[in-house]
Amino acid sequence: MRAVVARAPGRFAVEQVDRPATGLVVEVEAAGVCAADRMLFSGRHPWGELDWPFTPGHELLGRVVGGVGPFPLGTRVTAEVGLPCGGCEACERGQEHLCARAVHLGGRQVPGAFAEQVGLPAAARVHPVPDALATRQAVLAEPMACAVHAVRRAGVRPGDRVAVAGLGGLGAVVVHAARAKGAASVTAVVRSDEKAALARDLGYDAATSSPRDAAYDTVLDVSGSVDAVEVLLRAVRPGGRVGIYGVYDRPLTLDLNRLAELGELAVAGGHLAPGAFPEAIALLDGVDGDLVVTAEHPLDRITDALTASDRPRLKEIVLP
Ligand SMILES: [Zn+2]
Ligand SMILES: [Zn+2]
Repeated sequence: MRAVVARAPGRFAVEQVDRPATGLVVEVEAAGVCAADRMLFSGRHPWGELDWPFTPGHELLGRVVGGVGPFPLGTRVTAEVGLPCGGCEACERGQEHLCARAVHLGGRQVPGAFAEQVGLPAAARVHPVPDALATRQAVLAEPMACAVHAVRRAGVRPGDRVAVAGLGGLGAVVVHAARAKGAASVTAVVRSDEKAALARDLGYDAATSSPRDAAYDTVLDVSGSVDAVEVLLRAVRPGGRVGIYGVYDRPLTLDLNRLAELGELAVAGGHLAPGAFPEAIALLDGVDGDLVVTAEHPLDRITDALTASDRPRLKEIVLP
């Protein structure tokens, strides 16, 4: 079958590889491209060590076509990114997403979804996806699950005024997750008029490049930008909550008095999407997939999806 094989930074290309011989075999319908995939392309790994060669792609949507598992042939499924070891202290605590021995879908041990088929080992967390969803909605299961977890970690409560920074694949869907938790308003913190208009189309109540000081109960960064976190730390009210969900490329210098003496802020980081998939999949019906999916790429044009682009980008997907 055809699969993308990553051999070195910047060297990702389609090759002929063996079909998966073990595990739950899933025929790929579509796979989302994540900021993490662009990091891999540049030679960095958001979750661990790079181990070449490998087949990337962790935002899987497909149908069961073989192997053993709880799902009948033909079931439309997605899977969680992390495959925990099941035996370490984190796993025994029930925090499998923090398992230090976990392997990841789209790595050397578990070839990913930028391929015609994927073989999911028994440790994979597989979830059914309703047939009624369009491809462009159903392929958003993994980013929506991340959005649900990010909103849970941030502690969004009913009636909250929420501000979110980062209008990429995650920012495009997190507004639904915040609303589902009862947020009274969700404001996008953006850097351009174009993004402000897009945010309103995506369902945000408002968009601003300069949020008022102390105007929000809960702020959430899904941009991975340290500058955006600094803006949000001014925008949250005393006693408010701060969610940090991203991969950051430099440290933040912070006056801790803002968290303690001056603000009594609760700050929570988030990683992956433990226990969030069922809730996320139920939210996909309300998402405008045609707006969120900004480009589709055939497998052999994978580098178009992974390299810098002038076009406006939310979620791009790969079709085998
Ligand atoms: Zn992702
Ligand atoms: Zn473990």
